[in-house]
Amino acid sequence: MKDSPTKYIFVTGGVTSSLGKGIVSASLGKLLAERGYSVTIQKLDPYINVDPGTMNPFEHGECYVTDDGAETDLDLGHYERFLNRPTSQANNVTTGRIYQTVIEKERKGDYLGKTVQIIPHITDEIKRRIQILDKKKEFDFIITEIGGTVGDIEALPYIEAVRQLKWELENNAIFIHLTLVPFLAAAAELKTKPTQHSVKTLLEAGIQPDILVCRTEHPINDNIKRKIAQFCNVEKNAVIQSIDAKTIYEVPLLMQKEGLDKIILKKLNIECKKKARLIKLKKFLNGLQNPKKEITIGLVGKYVSLQDAYKSISEAIIHAGAKKCCKINVEWIDSEDINMQNLKSKLSHLQGLIVAPGFGDRGIDGKILAIKFVRENNIPFLGICLGMQTAVIEFSRNVLGLKNANSTEMDPKTKFPVINLMNGQKDITRKGGTMRLGAYDCKLKTKSNIYNCYKKEQISERHRHRYEFNNKYLEIFKKNGLIASGINKKNNLVEAIEIQNHKWFVAVQFHPEYKSTVDKPHPLFCGFIKACINNK
Ligand code: GLN
Repeated sequence: MKDSPTKYIFVTGGVTSSLGKGIVSASLGKLLAERGYSVTIQKLDPYINVDPGTMNPFEHGECYVTDDGAETDLDLGHYERFLNRPTSQANNVTTGRIYQTVIEKERKGDYLGKTVQIIPHITDEIKRRIQILDKKKEFDFIITEIGGTVGDIEALPYIEAVRQLKWELENNAIFIHLTLVPFLAAAAELKTKPTQHSVKTLLEAGIQPDILVCRTEHPINDNIKRKIAQFCNVEKNAVIQSIDAKTIYEVPLLMQKEGLDKIILKKLNIECKKKARLIKLKKFLNGLQNPKKEITIGLVGKYVSLQDAYKSISEAIIHAGAKKCCKINVEWIDSEDINMQNLKSKLSHLQGLIVAPGFGDRGIDGKILAIKFVRENNIPFLGICLGMQTAVIEFSRNVLGLKNANSTEMDPKTKFPVINLMNGQKDITRKGGTMRLGAYDCKLKTKSNIYNCYKKEQISERHRHRYEFNNKYLEIFKKNGLIASGINKKNNLVEAIEIQNHKWFVAVQFHPEYKSTVDKPHPLFCGFIKACINNK
């Protein structure tokens, strides 16, 4: 147990959404972790859903899954990718979850006849959820990012809760506020007024920010910093510029240059331990920015117009590219746009293909056509979750001759249910949090492409699905050259498949993308990218 009290850093945002609060929080976490501190990052989401698991990816982007099976905000993915440290359910709190807990307590009679109110009951529950992370006293810093923008009605209880917490924690808490400093082209000027207004809104709620991080498209000079400092009661050194970066992975370096971590430590009265050296990050950026080769791969999915829906997959591709010093162009292909006529023109120039996870039957035919094409043309293939299930369906129909074979998700009455509902799933009717979620062990077959990636037999990967490979068909698949190369021994579930007389055709029931980080690009993505490079 550490002896000094845990320090809390609250991150709020103003002016607009999408300022990059998640990336700034993750970058700050990285800088502190590299100085030798233990850090975790939490996200508070003001929506009423209990978690984003039931939301359409078009609404919310990807649903990120943790080891302990929490369905969470995609910012947690950034936290893990930057910090190389797992998060858990406790790292993501929503208004839905807060209210659910308070209402359950009320029904049990825990409030002893009191009127249950936003203050103190909801705010107390928010404070409890923030401090829960400190239960084991393992962190020097807890960074809490508050979703939404100050002034939003839904964010009010959170702002009030952290105001109270700051008051209770005294010198052990600090506020960072992110704002926008827009550039008006007609006036050729950066404007500070939106920042002044957003700090004013925060002040009305009783919060004086200690540090301002100002998102900008153009450098903010000293005069502007001075002006912001003066109008917002913030030290000039604490006005930090966050200029648009070419890649999110540059942001920790930019924040370091601006002295964000230094000013935090100073304001919290902490003597600087070592400096953040960021050796692995710099090496990673070097690979990313000085590629020696170039390939083009395709990603087939049905949410391709919103690339946030596949955030972890696209980041995992970037990680593997940096590791292999290879520039990877990704062509996003809408599965609903694929047909017999355009198949060749869409796919034949690609060095590899990924078929993404998903739900429901929309776009399935396009996915099956695409998989048939890469299977027959010996193009490296990686199928993820629904991508594996569709590969199984394709093989059943076109190699095994099982007419209209399907997953019972798409066709509950199919004569050949090669993918069907897991036993434990059959009686479940509620949607939220009821899939097979979180980390499960898997044993790999040693003579396989997948084993060559991981170079070990025992692996653990995260899941998010209801349907499974139907073991009844295992033998006939094997006889025809499609093997189960990864098995969950405990439940006898097929977790990975591959086709033997193919250059590289691997598909997995789990989601490898969730575990790819800057420090540890994921072996399966690296293996896939290597196969694509060799295919050029
Ligand atoms: N819809 C499929 C299932 O529930 C696959 C889910 C996924 O791709 N994440 O099993």
